[in-house]
Amino acid sequence: MSTLLKNVRIENDAHLSNILVRDGKIARITAADDSPASSAANAPQDGTATKNSPSGNTTVESPSGNASVESPSGNASVDEGATVAEGVEVRDCGGRLVLPPIVESHVHLDATMTEGDPHPNESGTLFEGIEIWSKRKQRLTAEDVKERALRAIRQQVRFGVQFVRSHVDVTDPNLTALRALLELREQLRDQVTLQLVAFPQEGIDSFPNGRALMREAAQMGVDAIGAIPHFEFTREYSVSSLNFAFELAQEFGLLMDVHCDEIDDEASRGLETLATRAYEAGVGARVTASHTTAMHSYNNAYFVKLLRLLQLSGINFVSNPMVNTHLQGRLDTYPKRRGVTRVPELTEAGLNVSFGQDDIVDPWNPLGTGSLRDVTLFGLYVTQMMGAAQIDGSYRFITHNGARTLNLEGYGIAEGNDANFIVLGARSWREALAFHAPVVASYRRGRLLFESTEPDRQWHM
Ligand SMILES: [Zn+2]
Repeated sequence: MSTLLKNVRIENDAHLSNILVRDGKIARITAADDSPASSAANAPQDGTATKNSPSGNTTVESPSGNASVESPSGNASVDEGATVAEGVEVRDCGGRLVLPPIVESHVHLDATMTEGDPHPNESGTLFEGIEIWSKRKQRLTAEDVKERALRAIRQQVRFGVQFVRSHVDVTDPNLTALRALLELREQLRDQVTLQLVAFPQEGIDSFPNGRALMREAAQMGVDAIGAIPHFEFTREYSVSSLNFAFELAQEFGLLMDVHCDEIDDEASRGLETLATRAYEAGVGARVTASHTTAMHSYNNAYFVKLLRLLQLSGINFVSNPMVNTHLQGRLDTYPKRRGVTRVPELTEAGLNVSFGQDDIVDPWNPLGTGSLRDVTLFGLYVTQMMGAAQIDGSYRFITHNGARTLNLEGYGIAEGNDANFIVLGARSWREALAFHAPVVASYRRGRLLFESTEPDRQWHM
C-alpha cells in the first residue's frame, strides 16, 4: 500500500509538493502539478492566501465528498478527503505545513504525572522538587511508572512528537523506574523512539553507591550517561563525578547528556570540565549539556573565554526555557534573573541548541503539556529571539536540532528516509505558532500514528 500526500508545504518551502510514501519510506517528493511556481511564490509569508480565490475562501473539492475544514487563520478552507486509486491512497493536504516529527530532547518520564504527590512544590525551586521526588520515588512500582509515562507519551504524540530523550533517576537502589522504562522503550519501539539517560538525580559521588548504580544502569542498556555536577557536595565531587561519567560513557560506547549547572550560582562551572573532556576525546557531537542556566549569570569575560572552548568541543545544548524560567531566579528579589541559558549567543556561535519541555505535571512543573510548540513559543519570547528569521526558523529547535542532539540517523523529509513526518493545521510555521495550530496527522514509517480533525469553530458575533 502506498500513500500520496498532495499539496503539502515542506518546512519553509513556499512551493507545494507531493510526497509519495511506499513501504514505509519516502519514495518520491515532486512539485505539485496544480501548483504553478508563480502562484505559490506570490503567496504571503503567513500562508493565509488560497489560490484562484477571489474571496480568499475557496473550498477545494473533495474526491470523497468529505466536508472541508477551516484553517486556524480562518482565511482558507482546505480538504482532507482521501481516495484510494490503484492501491495508492491519495490525501489532499490543501497546502498544509509538513514537518519532520517533533523531537523532545529533554524530559523526565519517570516522574511525570506525580504533581502534588506527596505534596505540591510551594517554593517553586528545583531543590524542593528534588526533595518531593525523593519521597515519591520510594513508592515506585513498574506498573506505576509505565502507566504514567505512557500517559505523557500519548500527550507528546498528540503534539507531533515521535522521538523522546528521557532522563531516568538512577539514585534508587532498586532502579525500579529504569527497569520499567527499558521495558516501555522496547514495547513502543515501532511507534515512538525512546532514548534513556542514566540520570543521578541525587548525585554520583554524593550518593551512597552512586558510581555502582550508574555502572549497573549502563549494563542494563541505557542510551546515554548523565551527571549532575551542580548538585554534588563539593567542587571536587563536581569534577570527579563528571570525569567518572565521561569514562563510563566511553567504556560502554554511550552518548552523554549532563544536567549541567542548573543553578543561578555564577560559580557553577561543570560545563568547562564536560566540554574539555569532549574536546580532548573528539566526541563533542555525542555529548550534550542540558540546562546550563548558570551561564545566564556568568560574567561576559568568562563567557567569551568559555565560548571558544565550547566551539572547539562541538557539544550540543538543550535549553528548557519554560521550566527554567519557572525554577530559576527564585532566590532573587528584583530584578529577577530569567535563568535561561544564552540561546541566541550559542546559536550564533554555530553551536547546536535544541529545546525540551523537561517536566510534565511533576514536582518541577505542575503545568507541562507535552507540546514543544508551546515550549518554542515561550522560548522565543524569553530569549528575545523575535526577529522574523528567528521566528520562521524556530521549528528547528524541536526538529533538526533535537535530532542532532539525539544523534538520530536518517531523520528529515528526504527521499529514501523513513516516512516519518507530521501535518499541521497551518500553512507555515509562523501561523502554527501564532494560531496554535493542531497536529492533524502524524506518520510513522508511512503509517498513521495519530490523527485529529481541526476544530469546527462557529462565531456568534
Ligand atoms: Zn531535567
